[in-house]
Amino acid sequence: MEQTLEARLQAYCKKDLSLCSNEELYTSLLFLVQSMAQKKVSAEGKKKLYYISAEFLIGKLLSNDLINLGIYDEVKGLLASHGKQLSEVEEVEPEPSLGNGGLGRLAACFLDSIATLGLNGDGIGLNYHFGLFKQVFKDHLQQETPNPWIEDPSWLKKTDVSYQIPFKGFTLTSRLYDIAVTGYENRTNTLHLFDVESVDESLVEADHITFDKEDIPKNLTLFLYPDDSDEAGHQLRIYQQYFMVSNAARLILDECTAKGCTLYDLPDYAVIQINDTHPTMVIPELIRLLMERGMDMDDAIDVVSRTCAYTNHTILSEALEKWPIAYLKKCVPQLVPIIEVLDDKVRRRYPDESVAIIDRNDTVHMAHIDIHYGSAVNGVAALHTEILKNTELHNFYKLYPEKFSNKTNGITFRRWLLHCNPKLASLIGSLIGDGYKKDAMELEKLWQYKDDPKVLDALLQIKEENKAALAQYLEDTQQIHLDSASIFDIQIKRLHEYKRQQLNALYLIHQYLNIKNGKLPSAPVTAIFGAKAAPAYTIAKDIIHLLLCLQDLTTKDPEVSPWLRVVMVENYNVTLAEKLIPACDISEQISLASKEASGTGNMKFMLNGAVTLGTDDGANVEIHDLVGDENIYIFGESSDTVIQRYAEGSYKSIAYYEKDPELKAAVDFIVSEKMLSIGSKEHLERLYKEFLNKDWFMTFPDFKDYVKTKDQAIRDYPDRTAWARKMLKNISQAGFFSSDRTIAEYDRDIWKLN
Ligand SMILES: *Cc1c(COP(=O)(O)O)cnc(C)c1O
Repeated sequence: MEQTLEARLQAYCKKDLSLCSNEELYTSLLFLVQSMAQKKVSAEGKKKLYYISAEFLIGKLLSNDLINLGIYDEVKGLLASHGKQLSEVEEVEPEPSLGNGGLGRLAACFLDSIATLGLNGDGIGLNYHFGLFKQVFKDHLQQETPNPWIEDPSWLKKTDVSYQIPFKGFTLTSRLYDIAVTGYENRTNTLHLFDVESVDESLVEADHITFDKEDIPKNLTLFLYPDDSDEAGHQLRIYQQYFMVSNAARLILDECTAKGCTLYDLPDYAVIQINDTHPTMVIPELIRLLMERGMDMDDAIDVVSRTCAYTNHTILSEALEKWPIAYLKKCVPQLVPIIEVLDDKVRRRYPDESVAIIDRNDTVHMAHIDIHYGSAVNGVAALHTEILKNTELHNFYKLYPEKFSNKTNGITFRRWLLHCNPKLASLIGSLIGDGYKKDAMELEKLWQYKDDPKVLDALLQIKEENKAALAQYLEDTQQIHLDSASIFDIQIKRLHEYKRQQLNALYLIHQYLNIKNGKLPSAPVTAIFGAKAAPAYTIAKDIIHLLLCLQDLTTKDPEVSPWLRVVMVENYNVTLAEKLIPACDISEQISLASKEASGTGNMKFMLNGAVTLGTDDGANVEIHDLVGDENIYIFGESSDTVIQRYAEGSYKSIAYYEKDPELKAAVDFIVSEKMLSIGSKEHLERLYKEFLNKDWFMTFPDFKDYVKTKDQAIRDYPDRTAWARKMLKNISQAGFFSSDRTIAEYDRDIWKLN
């Protein structure tokens, strides 16, 4: 076998492997993987899942595919025997940034699990040329630059599939590109990414993410969710969404009719999972296309309703998409009469204005289309689904209780354990065998080692090595120096007020002031952040500014830096997550209770032996249930209290500020002379005022408990055996969060593929 693999690789690079550059090895491996993946493409299964998503945050593909194809170790050894390092070859691959954060990463984990379970299911999305922006820090501020990722050769394979997509006043020619999705020792599925033939990368200037927003034929697939702070940005999003779903609908109809579908039996051939509301227009578009093919409207509505299912990802009202009907008329007028009929039918059946599709302000509520005209609605964690049923979507739940279900999110263990933490994976294998790779619940067997000092020591040893490896990596790539003997306390996720990086920052200021006053913590702590802020999200960028100022402050003060360091890594993405998570001691999951639908970062950390410090929110609730009070640090007000306080409209942050001198000192420090000497007055003052006048995500009420609970965790950390036992408990209970489990549930309850 080694001979063959070596021979095949050599055939691609046309010389001895020891003479190849890392770039040449990367392209040779890319070709090898593509040809091996192709052989596992399967036509099996009459019914097919189409997972439509505006985002697929797939990360680098090479190593993940090598693992799934079962040749990772062999390739690694082969390269090593020629003096080459697979890890260095990995560095050559650009990371496609086709997603913002959790939602897009979930879609990528799902594709992996769908193929791993041998299910017939493909993803459909858009081929953004620059994806999400690349983040750089300058003067303690985030700047956004383009992130081109498409090279020649790339994982994208151009296909013959192309459609004419109509918009008001013009038509665009699409082109489909495919990326192979390898299952772990199973079949290969496909991620279909549609592009416009007329796209023009030269619209984007070097180092800037600004471009002509009006020139749709040239700009449609340049960026993921461009800045939507203005009308042109909103409309570009509508163009993108319609382009995505119109192509998807045509591809689905073509594939199904090729298999003998009469269109009236479409639900026997296809199930469409609508990932958040971005692909919602697939519903009216499919109805329209079925009518074009001769079906009458009522039949078309019935067929489409039985084919589509919707996943809700948020209860943040500002994130629930609503489009003025005027925008739809301007961009995709052909959908408007259909949406009006859908609204009319709803209004005839249900007089309740709150469930209407088009509201009195002529705004279209996308989620309402999904709920009325889809066969299933699911939330993404137990608490989230309960909040949907009881509060946010209560009026819909009363109409359709049978449509609602929970599907707690998951993560693929191939990427988030086998690939990112090979030492831990190998320790686990040596203790309980490799069965957990296919049946994650077998991780529970690890708990039998809870009193085994050798196993507990080995866990600590691996954590130490991963921390040292992270320190080395950040030193080499970002000139960040870490003390790997300190506690690595990590908060990495999109920057959003509800996720409350600002609460963490207040704690760090509080700790800084303590140290300056001679009150030292029980152990040195390195607080590590990674986060991108949406380009138009002012407060989020102010919070990044605060964190970067704190980095400066703590790093340069010799009194403070031995005890407390704040570090913010630049351009947080999947590649960095894979290095940060295995090195984490304390996982910060501190969203305001009720606001984080699920979170998946929390699951990745748990699986890698970090202990969670968090609120009872999203999937933290389920982690808490699984590991018990002893093995997690929970703080803060309950989701019920928070929901009630919002309903009453009674929250006044200033009252907490005036009552608690420690909180007041931390908040005041933001605009202290010290801070103003480091950062910008404009940003720091705006943030200070935001805290005092609004604090919409209620950091102040949770401050005291957060400080107390975090200090407890830091006090507990030096008892290494007790801490290692907490780590073991977390790892052993993480099996539930395998996306293989999540996907099996979707298939059992919604897709019914076999
Ligand atoms: C997992 C992941 C996320 C989601 O993190 P949360 O903490 O659940 O918000 C975001 N970005 C990247 C790169 C990830 O890998």
